[in-house]
Amino acid sequence: MLSSESILQNFPILDRKINGHPLVYLDNAATTQKPLQVLYASRHYYEAINSNIHRGTHFLARLATEAFEQARQTVASHLNADSSDEVIFTSGTTDAINLVSSVLTLSGQIGKGDEILISTLEHHSNIVPWQMLCVRTGAELKVIPCDENGVLDQHAFHELLSNRTKVLALGWVSNAFGTVNPVREMTAAAKKAGALVLIDAAQAAPHLKMDVQSLGADFLAFSGHKVYAPTGIGVLWGRRKVLEDLPPWRGGGEMIKEVTFDKTTYNDLPFKYEAGTPNIEGAIALASALDFVNAIGLDEIYSHENELIEAAADALSDIEGVRLYGPDDRAGALSFAIEGVHHYDLGTLIDQMGVAVRTGHHCCQPLMSRFGITGTTRASFALYNTLESVAALAAAVAKASKMLR
Ligand code: PLP
Repeated sequence: MLSSESILQNFPILDRKINGHPLVYLDNAATTQKPLQVLYASRHYYEAINSNIHRGTHFLARLATEAFEQARQTVASHLNADSSDEVIFTSGTTDAINLVSSVLTLSGQIGKGDEILISTLEHHSNIVPWQMLCVRTGAELKVIPCDENGVLDQHAFHELLSNRTKVLALGWVSNAFGTVNPVREMTAAAKKAGALVLIDAAQAAPHLKMDVQSLGADFLAFSGHKVYAPTGIGVLWGRRKVLEDLPPWRGGGEMIKEVTFDKTTYNDLPFKYEAGTPNIEGAIALASALDFVNAIGLDEIYSHENELIEAAADALSDIEGVRLYGPDDRAGALSFAIEGVHHYDLGTLIDQMGVAVRTGHHCCQPLMSRFGITGTTRASFALYNTLESVAALAAAVAKASKMLR
């Protein structure tokens, strides 16, 4: 396991007391806490180099531009991208998916008779933009079902895949159940069928190594705030040839080469998709967060969290009436319910004991409907959680369950 002492020192917020209890923060799938080095990176940007980027000739503008472009390089090497030109800074995963669905809509290459394939496990961010595309283009949305364990039905996936499939938009890790989808295999099959593939890596980024070259997809999206960086910054990685062939999206400064009132020519990648002043500090802090994660090692983080999730699954299973959702091998998130207890009541009560979890549909209403429920209680783990966090969760849930049942 990771040494909790040295890691906890990096997260002052975890020293907080909630109602007199030590904070046990298990809402990491919603957003992670930020280590000191990320906080320092944000502060250093504003204290020492704040300036708008790219257009300025002055000293600070050069420093800020260099730091911003260095951050792009850091993201590119984190993803093993072919080039940093393939890294577009967005405000998050939602923004990145909307970018792709919007430019595909504008491209005119999707129309009636075409299909967009998603899965039952998707977050609303990877459903609604595609529904909007379908309304605008006449394409049809198809959905890969999952089984009772929240595992995608691979047979159904292959049945649904055809030459009508124009896009496979697939979450790598389910935020609701922690299911890790076989994205490499599914991407390969979809590419073979001639589809574009977008991977929603919002919940993969904090737990798994992401190598876009071995993944084989066309797009990958993730949010900084789920991987120890601030909110308001995210990444769309896109394969160069695919991005080059697609039209621009938002218009404005930075995404242009030349503007006249008759005609505008557009900038090259990545600037073509970065209209307006970007989140400069966010990009720099994201690079710092990725450095932080890589200094610890994603394999180490994954196995640490895995041990915690397994311990939590065991401990919660011992509590009467508990049902766990999702497969045995989860990443990040563990969803559960207690028979006869509303998830909201459970979440509220254990919050009184200092345990922060998420309750509700987790932005996965179709998945909840598939299981005939309105929501679950979800504990989600990060590198700073410990076996003590698991024990505190289990004790709080057991106590709350006795009070509520
Ligand atoms: N996709 C998944 C799987 C998520 O878990 C989330 C956030 O919870 C998102 C997309 C949306 O991320 P954001 O709100 O950062 O854009």
